[in-house]
Amino acid sequence: MISVSFEHCQELDRLDPLTGCRDAFDLPPNQIYLDGNSLGPMTHRARAKVQQRLQEWQADLIAGWSHREWLDYPHRLGAQLAPLLGAKSHEVQVVDSTSLNLFKLACAAVLSARSRKSARTRNRIVTEQGNFPTVPYMLEGLGRLATEIQVDVVPRDKLCTAMTDETALLVLTHAHYLSGEVFDLVEMSSKAHAQGIQILWDLSHSTGVLPLNLTQANADFAVGCGYKYLNGGPGAPAFLYVREDLQATSSSVLSGWLGHREPFEFADTYVPGEGLDRFRCGTPPVLAYAALEGALEIFEELDLGDLRKKSLALSELLITLLGPALEKGALTLVSPRNRALRGGHVSFRHPHAQRIMAALAQDGVVGDYRPPHFLRFGLSPLYLRYVDIWAAAEKIRRHVDAVAA
Ligand SMILES: *Cc1c(COP(=O)(O)O)cnc(C)c1O
Repeated sequence: MISVSFEHCQELDRLDPLTGCRDAFDLPPNQIYLDGNSLGPMTHRARAKVQQRLQEWQADLIAGWSHREWLDYPHRLGAQLAPLLGAKSHEVQVVDSTSLNLFKLACAAVLSARSRKSARTRNRIVTEQGNFPTVPYMLEGLGRLATEIQVDVVPRDKLCTAMTDETALLVLTHAHYLSGEVFDLVEMSSKAHAQGIQILWDLSHSTGVLPLNLTQANADFAVGCGYKYLNGGPGAPAFLYVREDLQATSSSVLSGWLGHREPFEFADTYVPGEGLDRFRCGTPPVLAYAALEGALEIFEELDLGDLRKKSLALSELLITLLGPALEKGALTLVSPRNRALRGGHVSFRHPHAQRIMAALAQDGVVGDYRPPHFLRFGLSPLYLRYVDIWAAAEKIRRHVDAVAA
């Protein structure tokens, strides 16, 4: 029995405080887009900003670098993003990709652990097995370069025992890329700190869909993605966070010219830039920043509490509407039933997940298939309506039944 009617969903949409946000997006017609956790859709403001920067390029050419806001992008967008992370404006910089930022900050943490006096040499990095693989991949690369570094990739329930007095850094992805299950930022940060271990968070699947509290958690480092819930466009610049008291002693191994204290002196020797400026590497991709700049404007007018509330209401609705399929075992819920542990997406397991997701796409519902048998649905509260979830659930039920037939 499904206890939620279409009319009830229409009523929820009428009462939704975020209902106007949908108009900010340029969504393709006849599609229910449940994939904004992989690539957020285009906003009208993103398009307008890109067009503005294109015109500046055409008219100003090289002068654009000196009198437009081009060079200042990493710092300016970082400050704009900081409230979404619960961080201070000078603790966030928008730069490079998430993978590169992971590498830069993991190196910074290892180098700073080395400079601290401690009884043991801390040459180990602990991270979680089975989460988004760019974290272990980048750490493995770091281990190839600095062969004394050992990377311990362990299952979630072994994280605490893997942390020892030889561990320099714990690297965790906040919301699991498959299940969406979130770690408690405060709890895990303090567990690491209690053992003299620094923590680096990957916030790619959390930023822009739930409130974060890096300052409260006393987190050391963090990185995350600009093109998922932040809707910054394909391959948008990513961000990095370094707690303010760690900035002076953190250094970037990717010490490019724009991270220099005085890049336009073209000096022979490298001197790190002020604060987070040292984590800049090369020239900012202005057109890519422009799309993110436009996309971020929507968040200035939003209450993150409203966002989280609606995000959880949408995931609760999808789980309820698929209840009959879950009860008869046609689908298995992979995401936590406990809403406090749930991120912005919901995943299910089905032996024919790939076929079902392909059929859904044909039928106007776009989600992600993830091997070997996961169906993942990103439920962005900015542009999805309750009626969209209702319609999507009906199609999901139909296609699950069809593969069983
Ligand atoms: C999407 C995602 C990334 C993406 O990294 P890129 O360098 O932008 O390709 C990194 N980490 C996590 C956890 C992600 O979900």
